[in-house]
Amino acid sequence: MESETSDNSSIRNIAVIGSGLAGLTAAIMLGQSGHRVRVFEKSRGPGGRMASKRVADGAVDVGAQYFTSRSPAFLEFLEQYAGNNCFGSWAATFGFQQSDKSWQPFPDEPRYVGIPRMTAITRRLSEHVELTAQVRIARLNRIGARWQLVCTEGKEHGEFDQVVVTAPPAQTQELLAASGLTSLMNETQAPGGDILPCWAVAAYFTEAPPAAFDAMRPDSDVLYWVANNSSKPGRNDSGQWWVLHATAEWTEANVDASPERVSYDLLAAFRQLTGFNGAASESVTHRWLYARSESRVKPVYLWNQSEGVGIAGDWLVGGRVEGAWTSASRLAQAMRAG
Ligand code: FAD
Repeated sequence: MESETSDNSSIRNIAVIGSGLAGLTAAIMLGQSGHRVRVFEKSRGPGGRMASKRVADGAVDVGAQYFTSRSPAFLEFLEQYAGNNCFGSWAATFGFQQSDKSWQPFPDEPRYVGIPRMTAITRRLSEHVELTAQVRIARLNRIGARWQLVCTEGKEHGEFDQVVVTAPPAQTQELLAASGLTSLMNETQAPGGDILPCWAVAAYFTEAPPAAFDAMRPDSDVLYWVANNSSKPGRNDSGQWWVLHATAEWTEANVDASPERVSYDLLAAFRQLTGFNGAASESVTHRWLYARSESRVKPVYLWNQSEGVGIAGDWLVGGRVEGAWTSASRLAQAMRAG
């Protein structure tokens, strides 16, 4: 494996672990600074929690549902590297239910989705990076001034001057502990840094359910989020795909339930919410052990210059898609500075 000794002002070999939005952002920005960057991803493709599942007539978003861009720089980055034809605004109706069961519209703000599916964005971003998929990095070995990456199968994947880790907190901590990076690991263990789990079900109805809004946050012990995926731009479904996300509490209590049981229970809660009695003709289920971050502590990113290891991800900045971008872009800036 080629590698070269480098100082702060020269080209560095950098490994990025994870190809969600944080990993892809860090890789693109560091690549733009002239560094040689390789991205390693444990799944089959890029995207992380900006996930879609293939279904008979297209795909349905089972992870992130939409994103906002409070910083104009985030949209500019997406336009530059993903192009503006793979995402657009979701002009749907959004409502939340109060404890007296009455509904209120969400405050108005632009909400964006991938077109024709959420993963369209990360697919396009990944075209700018060198990505090795289906490799789960288990540890970093110190070899002189560099880090050697070793996967769970015991294979070596090259030596790097610096490493960026963008996995969710539990996976990041496991990797840091296995690599002897104890003090950096301790910094990731701030209270409130947990990511909550979420069972997701997507169900297809040939007949449209009579729902008050296209996207809803119900007052429910079971359902956290309910949305008509077919109301997103560019879907062209003949019927309607609805996405149901369970609350974190319900997911925790049913974390080992079978997908069939989860699908049954979430659909029963959906019927109760909407009064709809139609049967779902197709459904898919996905369990997220790490879904949403409720972090109250926000270091934004972690960068240990002497070790040459940085950490980025939504969970370091309060969660969400834009948070993943903010964290990674701020880490890349810090790494550029030295
Ligand atoms: P991730 O997307 O988790 O990327 C981390 C990547 O690292 C993954 O691809 C993982 O496979 C990989 N990885 C982990 N360990 C290793 C390893 N050892 N080796 C190699 N690869 C590894 N956000 C919003 O803004 N709006 C929403 O509506 C919204 N809804 C959500 C609903 C659900 C059900 C979920 C799950 C998330 C939702 N989010 C939402 C959160 C949003 O998806 C995340 O904030 C964002 O996608 C996180 O990006 P990331 O790059 O930080 O992490």
